[in-house]
Amino acid sequence: MDKVILLNPYFSHTIWGGKKLREVFGYDEPGDDIGECWGISAHPVGESVAASGEFKGKRLSELWNEHRELFGNAEGDRFPLLVKIIDADDDLSIQVHPDDEYAKLHEDGALGKKECWYILDCPDDAELVIGHNARTADELKTMVSEGRWDDLIRKIRVRKGDVIQIDPGTVHSITAGVCLLETQQSSDITYRLYDYDRIRDGKKRELHLRKSFDVITVPAPDISGQIQKNAEQEDNSVAVLSSCDRYTVSKVKVSGGFSFNCDAGFVNATVIEGSGRVFDKEVKKGSHMLITAEGAKCIRMSGNMELIISYI
Ligand code: ZN
Repeated sequence: MDKVILLNPYFSHTIWGGKKLREVFGYDEPGDDIGECWGISAHPVGESVAASGEFKGKRLSELWNEHRELFGNAEGDRFPLLVKIIDADDDLSIQVHPDDEYAKLHEDGALGKKECWYILDCPDDAELVIGHNARTADELKTMVSEGRWDDLIRKIRVRKGDVIQIDPGTVHSITAGVCLLETQQSSDITYRLYDYDRIRDGKKRELHLRKSFDVITVPAPDISGQIQKNAEQEDNSVAVLSSCDRYTVSKVKVSGGFSFNCDAGFVNATVIEGSGRVFDKEVKKGSHMLITAEGAKCIRMSGNMELIISYI
């Protein structure tokens, strides 16, 4: 069994996308509106494809459906996670995601969306939209209908290396200049609350107010406990960044070489800085890979690099 399978990503082009995914991460993708790189995905909207080994050319969903042994025989009707790099050249819409229960009922069996952000790069004064100030559901609807966005939304300052967990029901928006790695449930369900009245191809993008009001948590919880500030990390170590009932996200720092185990049936990994090797495979900034059950027993990395990994 291959210990690691390199993956080729899917790219999405968006109204708010930019050029960083090509110019900073080196992906061979044309256009100046590249919003997202879906590096590790088995979602039907955009799938990763194996780029190495005996399964080269297979989609990740095919591997999940036909070779579950690669994933330590993990259970589930679909590969559970999706790992993206997002380049916000402009503000994303102010949005919210449903939980599993709501999505299953209202979105044709889709998963809900918990997500975790690792800030790869951002302007010095970057602020993200997280949470809102409405005290009741009625107040929320009134503030939205009157367009009182400055009163409604909460903003928090972030820096490179910060980690933020976004639970379903949380109003949020990634703002211009922020580049981040998102680890999320394998879902593409987003309800737009506000899109800054932007126009593309002569029209505004659709809003989803009713569903947004259905799922927004009111009042919004204090999210200070969901933000982890950038912390120093020792060379050749693994630091857990965020852990919830759907995933654990960790950062790996490699200098020289080391081996580790995270007690998982399979591990998603993305190189965010530097280059090196994972087992015998050469990897560099922007490389995405699946570490299979065979490799996950004892993951061997060498070189000088940083990676974000995730597992269930
Ligand atoms: Zn989101």
